[in-house]
Amino acid sequence: MSRGYDTIVLGGGAIGCTVAWRLAQAGRRVLLLERGRIGGEASGAAAGMLGAQLEVGAPGPFYELCLESRGMYPAFAAALLEETGIDIQYVHNGILQIALRPEEAEALRRAMAWQTAQGGRAEWMDPQDIGALEPDAAPGLGGVLLPDDGNVAAPLLMRALARAVHRRCEVREGAEVTAILPEPGSVRLRTAEDEFSADTLVVAAGAWAGRFVSDLGIDFAIRPVKGQLLAVRPRAGHGITRTLHTDEVYLVPKRDGTVVVGATEEHGAGYNRDLTADAMLHLLQGLRRAAPGLADAVFDRAWIGLRPGSPKGEPLLGPVPEHPNVHLAVGHFRNGILLSPVTGAILAASVAGEAWPERWRPFSVEAWRARSARSVGGTETGAAPDGSAAPMDGHARAERQPFTAGSDAKTEVQAG
Ligand SMILES: Cc1cc2nc3c(=O)[nH]c(=O)nc-3n(C[C@H](O)[C@H](O)[C@H](O)COP(=O)(O)OP(=O)(O)OC[C@H]3O[C@@H](n4cnc5c(N)ncnc54)[C@H](O)[C@@H]3O)c2cc1C
Repeated sequence: MSRGYDTIVLGGGAIGCTVAWRLAQAGRRVLLLERGRIGGEASGAAAGMLGAQLEVGAPGPFYELCLESRGMYPAFAAALLEETGIDIQYVHNGILQIALRPEEAEALRRAMAWQTAQGGRAEWMDPQDIGALEPDAAPGLGGVLLPDDGNVAAPLLMRALARAVHRRCEVREGAEVTAILPEPGSVRLRTAEDEFSADTLVVAAGAWAGRFVSDLGIDFAIRPVKGQLLAVRPRAGHGITRTLHTDEVYLVPKRDGTVVVGATEEHGAGYNRDLTADAMLHLLQGLRRAAPGLADAVFDRAWIGLRPGSPKGEPLLGPVPEHPNVHLAVGHFRNGILLSPVTGAILAASVAGEAWPERWRPFSVEAWRARSARSVGGTETGAAPDGSAAPMDGHARAERQPFTAGSDAKTEVQAG
């Protein structure tokens, strides 16, 4: 058995790596165990939007958490650059939501109203404003510019985090944890070939965390929610300068000249990794409707990722009351890239045993249990009809465009 670690982090996605890096920076001896390779799952596949205002349908603690993390990104990107020499291509150039139907325009105006009432910046754009800002975009019926949302290149984020954890932590890739064995004052972990122990454990196993969470006695469903994306390369003289979002797709321009088009949200597809013709067709049609000027762009590539779907799409963070040396960083669903910096800060405080500020408490196990006990008939979980992760509610997602992608998959195309 390998001993002598202060903390073991289970999972090498954006969440596990950020937490491991933060803990190691604070002087802890950290072992990171990753079943495959670092960044090989959802985090490396993500579109990389930092859509704090785009993603959240109502004011409240989750909105505040997203804003807090978005605000941490400039320093997070700079620290990663300093530590690793890798530029994660953080850009803070806004997200433009375009309404293609009257109902979408109404939903956007409603979202704009509550966000500005909360002090956020959101600006109505008439069709001619959209045409002037992004000539290749559909002017639609107008839309909303969220100037403070941004994006990063998720694969570069993962390359930088991989380098950071390799510098500061002990890292074992190809090490699948098969059992967590909490003990008083420590925790043991088993892999096929080895056993490890440490004072504390952080579970950050993405879409695979559900089993561990339930073994720890917590009734918080985490299910994979498949997303398919593709990238195109606009022809010379064409392109977009900021993320465009419609009810059907989002288009994220990257510094390498490609535009990422995403993404399906397939509840009930399990761990299936197929790229389907249906999904590609839907994304490409959405691209043409959102940005007719990019209709003849060159197809570049397509890929999938498995989001860690969770009740209400919100994460569960911090210690397990019955096993105070086991900490959770799970269930980030559509926003794990956005929420990485704040999750790192929360878990650093959690593992150090520090008192949390009130604003983080709604994401603790105690708060989750209290809410579940209050909710009637499981409505609090907001679960999708198949029991998988809840769709995010609100704003431009009020009306969605479902399409069939297999007998048991409930598939929708939308952002995130
Ligand atoms: C199509 C798509 C688009 C997205 N776009 C965005 C976006 O624009 N903005 C945004 O903020 N978020 C986005 N997301 C969501 C974001 O990718 C996730 O929320 C985030 O990556 C979750 O990070 P994670 O570290 O929890 O999970 P992961 O990146 O999946 O990492 C978990 C890791 O744990 C490892 N693991 C699992 N089980 C074990 C085990 N037993 N032993 C050892 N290791 C194990 C896995 O191999 C994996 O590497 C998107 C996701 C998808 C799929």
